[in-house]
Amino acid sequence: MRGPQDCWPWLGTWGGRKRDRRPYYMARGRRTMAYRWVWELVYGEVLDESVLILHSCDNGGWPIGCTNPNHLRKGTVQDNSANMTDRPRHGLPASVVQAIRKLLDQGETQAEIARLYGLTRETISAIATKRAYKHLPYPAGGSVDE
Ligand SMILES: [Zn+2]
Repeated sequence: MRGPQDCWPWLGTWGGRKRDRRPYYMARGRRTMAYRWVWELVYGEVLDESVLILHSCDNGGWPIGCTNPNHLRKGTVQDNSANMTDRPRHGLPASVVQAIRKLLDQGETQAEIARLYGLTRETISAIATKRAYKHLPYPAGGSVDE
């Protein structure tokens, strides 16, 4: 059921620090970042260490580690930090994330919210457990006003 637009979860090994787990693949006798390896496999281009592989989806990290080549692009460290700070559009708009948090607060199930927004359960789960969109402020008191 995985189409070209869906995220492809990494089913291999994970490495990295506990709070920053990354998908790894053993290639050419060394551990390679899974999506870097996928890039080289698909586009036949061996990347310089200074080139980062960025995700157009927001699922590059644990627990999904998306390795869909259609979701990957090359970038620099500067691009990456720009993504992290002031480009929530990289994933979901802040308003959507806040709305999802509100629904979670109200006790809506993750499956129902996923269906409502056309997102995967994984995405909703990542928001619920604060693995994703940590950079968006949480309102005091735990509820969200529009
Ligand atoms: Zn993806």
